[in-house]
Amino acid sequence: MNEVKKYVYSFEEGNAEMKDLLGGKGANLAQMVQYGLPVPPGFILTTEACLKYGEDPAFLDSVWDKVVSSMKDIEKKTGKTFGSGENPLLVSVRSGAPISMPGMMDTVLNLGLNDESVESLARVADDRRFAFDSFRRFIQMYGNVVHGVNGDAFEEVLEHFKSSLGVKFDNEIPAEKLVEVVARFKEIFKEKAGFDFPADPWQQLRNAVEAVFKSWGNPRAVTYRRLHKIPHTLGTAVNIVSMVYGNLGDDCGTGVCFTRNPSDGTKELYGEFLINAQGEDVVAGIRTPLPIVQMKTTMPEVYNELFEITTNLEKAYKDMQDIEFTIERNKLYILQTRNGKRSAGAAVKIAVDMVAEGLIDKKTAVGRVTPEQVEMLLHRQVDPTAENEVLAKGLPASPGAGVGVVCFDADDAVEMAKDGQKVILARPETCPDDIHGLFAAEAIVTSRGGMTSHAAVVARGLGKPCVSGCEDITIDLNKETITRGDKVIRKGDTITVDGSTGRVLVGGAPLMEASFSDDFQTVLSWSDEFARLQVWANGDTPEDAKRARAFGAKGIGLCRTEHMFMATDRLPVMQRLVVADTYEERLEALEELKVMQVEDFYGILKEMHGLPVIIRLLDPPLHEFMPKERDLEEELAELTADGNENTPAADKVRKIMAKVEALKESNPMLGFRGCRLGIVYPEISAMQSSAIFEAVLRLVDEGIEIHPEIMIPLVGVKTEMEFFRKQIDEIAKDYMEKSGKKFNYLVGTMIEVPHAALVADQIAEYAEFFSFGTNDLTQTTFGYSRDDAEGKFLGQYEEKGILPVNPFHELDREGVGVLMEIAVEKGRKVDPNLSIGICGEHGGNPSSIAFCHTAGLNYVSCSPFRVPVARISAAHAAMGRLK
Ligand code: PEP
Ligand code: MG
Repeated sequence: MNEVKKYVYSFEEGNAEMKDLLGGKGANLAQMVQYGLPVPPGFILTTEACLKYGEDPAFLDSVWDKVVSSMKDIEKKTGKTFGSGENPLLVSVRSGAPISMPGMMDTVLNLGLNDESVESLARVADDRRFAFDSFRRFIQMYGNVVHGVNGDAFEEVLEHFKSSLGVKFDNEIPAEKLVEVVARFKEIFKEKAGFDFPADPWQQLRNAVEAVFKSWGNPRAVTYRRLHKIPHTLGTAVNIVSMVYGNLGDDCGTGVCFTRNPSDGTKELYGEFLINAQGEDVVAGIRTPLPIVQMKTTMPEVYNELFEITTNLEKAYKDMQDIEFTIERNKLYILQTRNGKRSAGAAVKIAVDMVAEGLIDKKTAVGRVTPEQVEMLLHRQVDPTAENEVLAKGLPASPGAGVGVVCFDADDAVEMAKDGQKVILARPETCPDDIHGLFAAEAIVTSRGGMTSHAAVVARGLGKPCVSGCEDITIDLNKETITRGDKVIRKGDTITVDGSTGRVLVGGAPLMEASFSDDFQTVLSWSDEFARLQVWANGDTPEDAKRARAFGAKGIGLCRTEHMFMATDRLPVMQRLVVADTYEERLEALEELKVMQVEDFYGILKEMHGLPVIIRLLDPPLHEFMPKERDLEEELAELTADGNENTPAADKVRKIMAKVEALKESNPMLGFRGCRLGIVYPEISAMQSSAIFEAVLRLVDEGIEIHPEIMIPLVGVKTEMEFFRKQIDEIAKDYMEKSGKKFNYLVGTMIEVPHAALVADQIAEYAEFFSFGTNDLTQTTFGYSRDDAEGKFLGQYEEKGILPVNPFHELDREGVGVLMEIAVEKGRKVDPNLSIGICGEHGGNPSSIAFCHTAGLNYVSCSPFRVPVARISAAHAAMGRLK
């Protein structure tokens, strides 16, 4: 027999494990009912119902009976009647996806009100003001969510009433005036929607459910999912819950709290509440709420109950909880619990603290800190010695510091950021429609709203600095100004947002790089325990090596020797080498360079004592070391103008010009570079190898343990590798014989052209290690010259969906990745223990690291600053958390 699929669940029928089907909010509400917590009665339409509705809206007919009977159940439980009777039942209709998408989809509150039920509500609540206030909120929300009626028209009416009454807050409008407001709101609804406001509660319910289902596809939700890589195929559940009221008087209230401080991770009940208000007032940031500790004095019993419930919820969920609650006539109701979003710093502290408290194990702790959060922790702070004028102080809503020019509109922020400007988005408050602007901005300032306002929550999620509730300033969107007293900041002026302290500073303050907390180091060291991939760093100098070690790198995966030749004292010698006509002239220049290279290698190898260091032989085309043609022409023109065109100086310039001309290539990226240089001028690679071995011998004398490895760039065929292996082995042998000392070294190659990957087994006969140069491998696989591609068309490719991402940022698995897999397989067939790493920039990119893990590499090597991100990514890859 075919089992009939269930699309509607009461809270009693669900639990926290059912997030995919019931959405996060619904599953947690159901779980709280299982725990016996005070949750208002309700039921859930599943995410599958949303998807079915998406395929065919008529689907709703087939489950409507079940919705009606579930409503009847709520009526029974509450003793209220939906939309009529003495004691009217009102419900909220809320979205709830399997993965939290705060504020992205729609919600309707107070559903069930009409001209009849509003009067009953007034009688039961003994508060006419409250009843009509609820009704006007409902018309506004319903109008907006279900029929797209813009909220501004309603707000204008409200403002008009407030100003004519001479009051500041909504709750100061008396009942008889609210009756007029409701009448006006209904007129507005009719004007904009084109028909009367629906009085039938069942019609209201059905329309609201459909609106929530549809909101899964609204542009801001789609954008949010794209930014957070949430699949579009999940769908949202709809939660229908009986209303409880936080706005029935001063023994009522509503709030949001966290079981730990979401900004810095401190273990404390943290949050905000508003007396005599509905939940939306807290989140919308219209009135600035009170810190939750004040509840201890104003409502001590409720506070104690809340404290106990929240503490138990955290213990049950073993994670920091973000809880919404309402107090109706001194009775506490829990409306929602979910794992709380937190700043990167808080994530680390909470993870480490919870291990110490025995709540979670180390592996779970590592899993709770994402690569993105580690990235954020590398964020800057305002230099404490900065002397910038403080414009205002608000709430430290999201840590980090940002400097930029002010703008007041999300679209502007996007445009200005596109032009390469760093922008600060300033708004009285933000709403979900501003998401693209928040994303484009360096930092955000709002004059209203608390730590749980939209701006604060989203900024923390994005790792953007944010100061919210900055009430000392006035943000005027029409004039595009921020004012405080006489001080006026206009669009385009530079300010600094210090999200860690809540300050807004005039001008661009000096910023300091992030420093690592002990907890951060702890999480990273735990990561190393769970990772299979090691993390090495790319570095060219002893300073880089030192930093790499400090960040926890287990080796240097790429030391690019050419960078050493660019220094001002070396470049002229390098140029002499390039223009030399004879072997002897070249040897002379090389001898000079060798002396310097020995020092370079000595410094780096010493700094990395005990760990491997891969030194790559010269790679770039020689013209890169030569003066620019235009500079040479100018030099010659000057000499000529001074009558010196026949001097040795002019001859020298002409000789260099001729060499530059001779070195010109049609496609330098594919030209005379890499190992090809050493084949034509073996004396260059011989000099570099000699310099390495001389440094090695000095360190051997000093008794320092070192692991030098010499890497040949751009090898494509095995005979190239064979050539260098022979040359280097001979030089090494020579040094050992002459010195009578032994030392270890390896000779390997980069795999950075497709041919090398395809014949990796042949190359492995001579190479003792492989390192994927995925910068060049991406260039040569796609046939894109990176600089040209990124400058000219890759942006368009991404925008038009030709490529999903820039393959120079995120490793292309379908092409480049397949070549890598071939090389790994072929290389290891010849030498099962062949060490294989990656040293292209992808080595620091989380998704690419996940691929390297799966492909069986031994390590990834990236810039020292990315080492922490790579360490956590390697652990997440091993845990299967990163794909
Ligand atoms: C590479 O090609 O990935 C690489 C690391 O070498 P370079 O970037 O120096 O060409
Ligand atoms: Mg390369």
